[in-house]
Amino acid sequence: MWRTMVDGEVAKALKYVLECMSTAAMARTPNVAALCPQPRLVAVTKTKPKEMIIEAYAAGQRHFGENYVQELVDKGNDAQILTLCPDIKWHMIGHLQTNKIKKVIEVPNLFCIETIDSIKLATAVNSGVEKYLGNKKLKIYVQVNTSDEQNKSGVDADHVNELVGHVLQNCAHLDLVGLMTIGAFDHDLSEGPNPDFQKLLKCRASVCESHCLEPKDVELSMGMSNDFEHAILVGSTNVRVGSTIFGARAIKK
Ligand SMILES: *Cc1c(COP(=O)(O)O)cnc(C)c1O
Repeated sequence: MWRTMVDGEVAKALKYVLECMSTAAMARTPNVAALCPQPRLVAVTKTKPKEMIIEAYAAGQRHFGENYVQELVDKGNDAQILTLCPDIKWHMIGHLQTNKIKKVIEVPNLFCIETIDSIKLATAVNSGVEKYLGNKKLKIYVQVNTSDEQNKSGVDADHVNELVGHVLQNCAHLDLVGLMTIGAFDHDLSEGPNPDFQKLLKCRASVCESHCLEPKDVELSMGMSNDFEHAILVGSTNVRVGSTIFGARAIKK
């Protein structure tokens, strides 16, 4: 059983990540910094026990991310988490199938879905919100496949404008927060900036031009344990960090 301590391992690692984030944020150019005063940390808890979530929450963390629908549903409805973490904000960061939409949008304290990657999915989530959440709007990110790998989810960079246009014009119950990418895991920073992040920045510029939006109103969710500082330096507003805070995950079979 995981020990719950106010100043345990999780709290220490969380503090470390937040410090690294501040340092990276302060190293940004004024133009980049002007778009986002303080990048947000999403603590990714997939495969991790609820005791770790409760400890991170007690240490001040509010935004949490999960990949798998059933795990998000279980943790989101957990009685202990609901009692001890009343202000928790859940991010769905994994691939979403249309037949699971209802389960996800009914999770208490769902903050956003970061993985809208097709017109069909946007339409279905929009209808689901209308049907099950009434007049509410749900925050979403459009997920972009910036590395052109067939096996990765996300809309192609060439079709981002079209998908964003669909969300803005036809999805009254969706609130576009920004763009999200996972990107290649193995980029070597000694070879220069991560091209996936550069591509997401270009997508934002193009979305802003096509749809008359201000860059500061289109967030970028990019950066994970191995590259969140670099991501912040180049303009990430939302980093998703798991293993650096909660330890390595067992490989899913
Ligand atoms: C697992 C996961 C993360 C966190 O990865 P770490 O390398 O453990 O920080 C971030 N984003 C997504 C989409 C993930 O699936």
